[in-house]
Order: sequence, then structure tokens, then C-alpha cells
Amino acid sequence: MLKLRDLRAYYDTPKGTVKAVDGVTFDIRENEILGIAGESGCGKSTLLKVLYDYVQPPLRIVSGEYQAEMSTNGNQPKILGPGEVRKHWWDYISYIPQGSMSVLNPVVRIEKQFFDAVGKNQDIQNKNVIRERVAGYLKELELPVEVLKSYPHQLSGGMKQRVLVALGTFLHPQIVLADEPTTALDVVVQKGILMMLTEVQARMKNTLVMVSHDMGVHYQITNRMAIMYAGKLVELGPTEAIFNKPLHPYTQLLIEALPKVGDRRQREGISGRPPSLLNPPDGCRFAARCPQVMDVCRTKEPQLVEIEPDHYVACHLY
Ligand code: SF4
Repeated sequence: MLKLRDLRAYYDTPKGTVKAVDGVTFDIRENEILGIAGESGCGKSTLLKVLYDYVQPPLRIVSGEYQAEMSTNGNQPKILGPGEVRKHWWDYISYIPQGSMSVLNPVVRIEKQFFDAVGKNQDIQNKNVIRERVAGYLKELELPVEVLKSYPHQLSGGMKQRVLVALGTFLHPQIVLADEPTTALDVVVQKGILMMLTEVQARMKNTLVMVSHDMGVHYQITNRMAIMYAGKLVELGPTEAIFNKPLHPYTQLLIEALPKVGDRRQREGISGRPPSLLNPPDGCRFAARCPQVMDVCRTKEPQLVEIEPDHYVACHLY
């Protein structure tokens, strides 16, 4: 449904050019839950902005290809490129941002936030019709209809996040992008939000792309995972394979760092820090932290190759 080919998206800053997404190639499929994982600053949220066609200064697409395939009621799918996808926000592609606390307008009731977001893209302009449909949708999602009359500050963090999920999925978009949807929520609320997201995806049979730094969240709900490191895609494959047989040393360390039931050993973090994206090193960007580094790694950049069916890695070990 979404196709990226050698895509580069950079930020222009007073200090120089930050290569946040630097040569990323992969496809996002129909009816899947794809997780994008990696440390803070690895480019995953920037990648989501590119997918959402929300590219504005200081961010710019430098090169590469981005294409979205929109199904159209039995007709040939429509192919959309940058600048066109944004015309179909909410009904074709929607975005659930991180930080529900600051995303909802604090001085506007939830109902009006639905009118503002949905009214622009819908044939239905009649407020009573929208009100009725929104109330029906909230009931479907088992949310209390009373939230429509509330201001954001009157709702708990979990309820605000649920409202954002409802807002983002109300028009049944073919693709939903969620950026750290469970960050800053306690584990019980987090579980509820994840269940809500997966139930909505199963019902609509659409595509959910979820960014999270939390590997546990990916394990719970995703079908496939993309692991990013310092602006590069370093591993891509089915979630089960990523957890049971991680190929890239970085992925292996991420999995190794997770707590396991019955294993009381002290967990080790990954030593060192990711390189600056202002001036990334030649060769493999993980070389300075990699326990299996070889001479070739410092000079030659590894390319993403398919090692097992549907399982790709960018590392000179393979
Ligand atoms: Fe480690 Fe080399 Fe593989 Fe990079 S290419 S992850 S440095 S082994």
C-alpha cells in the first residue's frame, strides 16, 4: 500500500543537515500491523511524517521515491505521491500522534474537535448527522458518549488517548499511523489502548503502522517489524522471526536487554551512543558499538538483503 525506495529526508538546521531518514527502502502491506522500532533519534518519527506526507521545513525530502496506493470502490487503485497523500488525510490515511496531553486543543470540547477534523473531509456537513455518527462510533468502541461534551483536561490520560484513536479511525482510513501511542501511560492503560488499536484494525481490515521504542509493545501486537538505527533500516521481518532469531547485532542486543520471566540476570544496556546524524560515519553506522565489528564495517556500508524468506538485514556478517 505504501512503497518507499531509497528515501532520504533531511532536516536543515543552523548546525548543518541532519540526515534523519537516509536511504530507506521497504513496502507496507495491506491489512498488516507493522511496527517501527529503534532508539530515540533513530529517525522513526520522521519516517512516519514522510509516510503521512507531512513534510514541511526544516524537513525536506532530498531524494528517493514515495508512493501510496489508494483503493477506490472496485476501480483501479489510485497512485498517490508526495503532496497528494495529504489531500486524503483522515479518510485514506490518518495519524495518531504521541502525547495526547498536548495534541487535543485544551479550550475546545471533544465534540467540536471531531467536527473540525471530520467535517472538512466529509460529504456530511450537517452537524447533527456528524454528532449522531460520532456518538454511534464511540459506542462501538465502548467509549462513553459523554466525553463529547468534555474538555480534554476533564479526561484521564488514557481516555484522551482513546479519543485520539477514535478520531483517527472514525472515517475508516485504509492506513493508520500511530506514533508512540502508549508512551507515558501506565501498563494497564497501555494494554487497553493496544487492545483498542488491534480490535479496530481487525474490524476495518486496514493497515496499522506503529512507531514505538518499546519492544514489548511490538511483541504484543505487530505482524512485521522494521528496526531502525541512525537513520537507516537495519532489519525487517516477521515479528516472530525478529524476536526468535534476530539477525542484526543491534536487534540481538535490543532483544537481549528485555526482561524475561524466570531470568534474574542483570540486564545489560547497549554501551555507547548512536552517531550524530549531522555527520554520520562511513560504513556501518553501528560499527562503534557492535561487538562483532570487522574492518570492512568501518568503510563499506552494508545493504539490506533478504537472508530468509521475508527477513531482511543490513550487516556484513551475512
Ligand atoms: Fe556489526 Fe559490521 Fe554488522 Fe555493522 S556491519 S552490525 S559493524 S558486523
